[in-house]
Amino acid sequence: MVNSYLKQFAALYAMVYDSKRMAAYGKYQGYDVVIQDATQQAQYVIQMAVNGTTPYFVEQTAQFVQSLNFPFVNYAKYENLTITVSVKNKPRKIQEYFVEVLNVLVSYCRNAGLASCCKYCGTQAGIGAYSINRNVDMLCGNCFGKISQNLAQAQRTIREEKGSLLAGLVGAFLFSLAGVALWVIIGQFGWIAAIAGLIIVVCALKGFEKFGGKMNLAGAILVFVLSIVMVVLAETISESILMTQALYEEGFSITFFQVLGGFFSLLNLSEDLLAEYIKNVGIGIVFTVAASVSTLMNTYRNKNLKHELVKLN
Ligand SMILES: [Zn+2]
Repeated sequence: MVNSYLKQFAALYAMVYDSKRMAAYGKYQGYDVVIQDATQQAQYVIQMAVNGTTPYFVEQTAQFVQSLNFPFVNYAKYENLTITVSVKNKPRKIQEYFVEVLNVLVSYCRNAGLASCCKYCGTQAGIGAYSINRNVDMLCGNCFGKISQNLAQAQRTIREEKGSLLAGLVGAFLFSLAGVALWVIIGQFGWIAAIAGLIIVVCALKGFEKFGGKMNLAGAILVFVLSIVMVVLAETISESILMTQALYEEGFSITFFQVLGGFFSLLNLSEDLLAEYIKNVGIGIVFTVAASVSTLMNTYRNKNLKHELVKLN
């Protein structure tokens, strides 16, 4: 989603607005600045890496930044060469806030003789904007190269780790039963049990890992398919209970397991029941998929360190 306040601010100061990474970055009066849109946490985070030539300047800069005294600043600090200022999100005022903070920081840095630098090694040459796991960072090509190598090495290590899909599947099945139980309980109140669908997926993921399953692509697909099967199972059990009750009230002496055993032949007796079942299962699957795909994808990405590492512009 485009943040029009940040986009407009970037345009005003000839910075780049990046909607995918929810940030504006570029030079502000000669200094490299990144403004991260964290409006979900009701804030923006301004970052500037600057290099103090002596320990004295590092100490002094830290003190100066900490003493920034604006009512709209949550916190400000200078650590590991990076000035970080968290600004409260006030949509109509936010551009003024940015300007006030940046002007104070830039004028301090100018006077102190501080210059923009790589946030990792402090060099002032060859700084560029990079996206590391969707965070925009200003760093040098060398450090980016090192980070890429380390990530590639870590990914190789993960690929070489052993794990059993079968054991993981057993764990996913056992743990997901908790979600199935919840689905059945919610279903008895006549509610759509979509939230239980998400819980089925989360439980299946936990069980998969607890039993030593390896969360690679095959593992992720396995957990996903198992979760869908468990959703269908949950809905079948839920409807069987309702059906048993209905038949019992009409004077039939029949047990739950008899209904469950003959569930599909019973369904076929009534087009209405069949349509209802297909509808509920369909809605259940759609909700479960919608609620769980991002959870599953994030788990897969994190476990396999599928982080975005690219040079911007
Ligand atoms: Zn560097």
